[in-house]
Amino acid sequence: MSLELIRGDITRVDADAIVNAANSSLLGGGGVDGAIHRAAGPELVAECRLLHGCPTGQAKVTRGYRLPARHVIHTVGPVWRGGTHGEEATLARCYKSVFARVSELGLRSVAFPSISTGIYGFPIEKASPLALREIQAALARLSHLEKVTVVLFSEADLETYQRALEGLQGAPGGENV
Ligand code: ADP
Repeated sequence: MSLELIRGDITRVDADAIVNAANSSLLGGGGVDGAIHRAAGPELVAECRLLHGCPTGQAKVTRGYRLPARHVIHTVGPVWRGGTHGEEATLARCYKSVFARVSELGLRSVAFPSISTGIYGFPIEKASPLALREIQAALARLSHLEKVTVVLFSEADLETYQRALEGLQGAPGGENV
């Protein structure tokens, strides 16, 4: 089991599933959501229509269509409203919900973008250690899960995640994966 941080475009990643930072309509939007829908083709939004949206903090699965990934796990992150509206707990629930779907499907590999840290405004310095803790916990728990990749769109975001990972590994109770 391994955790990898890379800079890149998640629509190009070959994995059992990629995660979409969707909005609650699941009908497409800006950022990574728009990129995933463009790359997957119109069949993706057609399947999403059948799902009737997704509440914040939950996750729903579709096929990947023209993407190299077999599935897309759509999750709806919290909009950052200053940090006093349960945003951190909600973001943690997104990761747990995604891994619940990963577990149900018995997937071996999954790739994440940095959920909520774009248009939704969640500070990446707070989101990155939270994301990495949830990912490490899932890697420790799910025996079928071999590889989790976090795909960062910018060099600055990649460096922030790399620093967060070093911080977790240095912290008491932090474990290498
Ligand atoms: P949210 O609405 O959850 O904040 P965004 O799509 O606006 O979602 O941003 C989430 C992160 O995804 C941001 O860091 C953004 O730079 C990044 N991103 C945008 N396009 C891609 C892509 N093709 N691959 C990977 N990450 C992407």
